[in-house]
Amino acid sequence: MITTDRPQWIQQRIVQDEIDRYLPAGGGDFIPDGEIFRLLGETGEPSAARVRELIAKALAVETLTLAELAELMRVRDEGLWDEMRAAAGAVKHKVYDNRIVTFAPLYLGSKCVNDCEYCGLRRSNPAVARRVLAMDAVRAETEALAGRLGHKRLIVVYGEHPESGVDYIAESIREVYSVKVPARRGVGQIRRVNVNAAPMRIDELKILHGCGLGTFQVFQETYDRRAYARVHPAGTIKGDFRWRLTAMHRAQDAGIDDNGIGVLYGLGDWRFELLAQQAHVHEMERFCGIGPHTLSFPRLEPAVNTPFAEAAPGRVSDDDFERIVVLARLAVPYAGLILTARESPAMRRRLLPLGVTQMDAASNVGVGAYADGQEKQQGDRQQFLLGDSRGLDECIREWARAGCITSFCTAGYRCGRTGKCIMDLLRSGAEGKFCKLNAVLTFKEWLDDFATPETQAVGEALLQQELDEVRVRQPGVWPAFSDTFRRIAAGERDLYF
Ligand code: SAM
Ligand code: SF4
Repeated sequence: MITTDRPQWIQQRIVQDEIDRYLPAGGGDFIPDGEIFRLLGETGEPSAARVRELIAKALAVETLTLAELAELMRVRDEGLWDEMRAAAGAVKHKVYDNRIVTFAPLYLGSKCVNDCEYCGLRRSNPAVARRVLAMDAVRAETEALAGRLGHKRLIVVYGEHPESGVDYIAESIREVYSVKVPARRGVGQIRRVNVNAAPMRIDELKILHGCGLGTFQVFQETYDRRAYARVHPAGTIKGDFRWRLTAMHRAQDAGIDDNGIGVLYGLGDWRFELLAQQAHVHEMERFCGIGPHTLSFPRLEPAVNTPFAEAAPGRVSDDDFERIVVLARLAVPYAGLILTARESPAMRRRLLPLGVTQMDAASNVGVGAYADGQEKQQGDRQQFLLGDSRGLDECIREWARAGCITSFCTAGYRCGRTGKCIMDLLRSGAEGKFCKLNAVLTFKEWLDDFATPETQAVGEALLQQELDEVRVRQPGVWPAFSDTFRRIAAGERDLYF
């Protein structure tokens, strides 16, 4: 039974026809539990030659089958794992070069009608203060993120609630895009708004598509139906496994072709989750003609008054978490891999060379926390507690020292290089060329507008190497590119290839 003050709103959220049309008649779906359990039951370790064959397939940017991924999961030999780790880094380099894309999460509300047992924002948690930000507060948050910190990309996160329904989401996206703040030399502004929200109907998703939405993320949380039912009470919207499972089909039909999926690690057996997610990837490739733009790896974190999060049944160790990242990198070579500040700085350092492509920084998941200048996390304002609370400047400096250029590029989506187009470019390695140019230009912008002198020194040294590389490797574009770079250095902004 649903016990809430808005039962009618809740009843109307799920449109059964917008689930059924994507699934086989007769009640099945595309997560083949039986096959996955059979693969997990196999014990034979693959030979070194076979592992290298699968690595070669990943390096050719081809998606692995379920059986192939299961074979890699069965590798025990540490020497072969070293080869797989190196290959994960090489795949990332081939597809994405040495770029790391950065962003910040922006939580606009803490009201939610669902009751997910692991989440601090669940409706039955009395320890969280509830609010949904009005547009002037959305503006203030954006000004802090774009003006003080210099972020260019956000993942905006919403609870599922009538006060933060599709009209609110659309209005807030438009508000974020409208903010422009003077910076040291140029202008601070958010150029790409990604959204993490509950699954929506096709008509609603069309509205978001019309607002210039970047990537639309919905995490399945767990693909294990029994674990799913245990933590998402029946009668809540989120309790409907298949409404969530078909979220990306509806997004695609609404015209949104940059979509992100993920697993919340800690709810079920991670091996099952990874194989089931791979089945989801195959289904997206079949239905959409492209797989997911990004894969996310949230690991359960403590949250205020949330005992479940401390004692989750499928808790994933650091070593297994590393295996997950390596296996995902090899299994879906073209996808962006997002590693959030839920993880500690040490863990983020460890995983960076293994194929991660996006990391947030200076993150705060408290509602209204950026504008307040709230340095410390406050449990009663947020969904869970973060592991890495370092600032953007410090992160960028560390990544630059590790040889990674931070990209603030948002050109792809503004030039129509999204969906199948960008996937084909990524697969062929051609997108890397555009992205390298735009990474250099946006990194220069950020250094000039926001970096501390220490980070500027480290960043300029890296930029010099990057410029030399473009001159030698892409002589055809060098004249136009070096001219654009000079214009950016002279103070022009938002120029891209
Ligand atoms: N409310 C929407 C939903 O659930 O789909 C929007 C996203 S929710 C605010 C963002 C994500 O945070 C969830 O999909 C879940 O994976 C993750 N999450 C929830 N509780 C968490 C916790 N205790 N630790 C880490 N991640 C958590
Ligand atoms: Fe609500 Fe999302 Fe938290 Fe579940 S995970 S309680 S849907 S905010």
